[in-house]
Amino acid sequence: MSNEISGSATVSCRFCGATNRFPIDKALIDLSLVVCGSCKEKLLRVSGEPLTDLNPDEIAHPWDRDALAKFKAIPYVEEILSKVLGSTFDRMHLFRHTASSLKVSARQAPRIHRLYLEAAGRLDVDPPPLFIVQSPIPNAYTTGAGAPIVGITTALVDMLDDRGLVGVLGHELAHVKLGHVRFRTLAVLLANGALKILNLAGLANLALGPVKMLLFKWYQMSELSADRGELVASGSLSTHVRTHMMLAGGTAKIAAELDVAAFVDQANEAESLRDGDLFVSLMEMFDNTDRSHPLLVWRVHHALQWSRTQPFFDVLAGKGPKPRLTST
Ligand SMILES: [Zn+2]
Ligand SMILES: [Zn+2]
Repeated sequence: MSNEISGSATVSCRFCGATNRFPIDKALIDLSLVVCGSCKEKLLRVSGEPLTDLNPDEIAHPWDRDALAKFKAIPYVEEILSKVLGSTFDRMHLFRHTASSLKVSARQAPRIHRLYLEAAGRLDVDPPPLFIVQSPIPNAYTTGAGAPIVGITTALVDMLDDRGLVGVLGHELAHVKLGHVRFRTLAVLLANGALKILNLAGLANLALGPVKMLLFKWYQMSELSADRGELVASGSLSTHVRTHMMLAGGTAKIAAELDVAAFVDQANEAESLRDGDLFVSLMEMFDNTDRSHPLLVWRVHHALQWSRTQPFFDVLAGKGPKPRLTST
């Protein structure tokens, strides 16, 4: 029953072990203000500290987990993956990015590098190479077969503040943490018409219809998990909502006029319009840029829903003090 939305959350203080119960509504206004009633330390880890105890299952949305399990159970899936995402795939992408974009490091764009390491610490992931890609379209993505790389466009770097950037970088790293990357890469290739590649690989006789259907639905569901990672990385609900509002249609010119509450209402409206079969058609219809982060507004509804559950607070509160070892 721990996933049910209720009015309050209960966590143990990781400093003194005291059990604390607090109203969720009040906590969500500013998570950094929730303190232990006993020792007065901050109960929730929202200050950028690494979450070395984060388990992928804690952020995986059940729709993501279920759909991915179904997809993996399809015969020949591994064969398709290895044929389409062969050994040259990662080298090709690494070469393309290294030859065309900025490779972020402690020397190159050190501020972005610092924010990236912070996000990696929050998600407890070894950060793959990060590239800043020149593009007027605000976007971030992760691609790869076995060795992923992360890309963020210049437009997105310009659009978001530092907290927002930690969030979107955390979103990408959540895809890595959850083992999504090669399946998402396959989905994009299939949607782009990689069927031709399969024909060349002698796999045309496989029943690709059902494979695509499952994969395309899962692709959208995998965003729900990565959004949870984004929320955990930034540690701020307002940052999360604002980032998605800006990505959906915000500009610097009207930023002061954007209304968070109206956007949340719109996100709930999008949920009421949801229909499972639409996910498949959308994947076929979207062009490349739309496909990288689709259904932004709808996803906010689900991220907000999760933020009102006990598991969200469990992730931020951590596992508490380790039992003291008695010396022998
Ligand atoms: Zn305490
Ligand atoms: Zn994503």
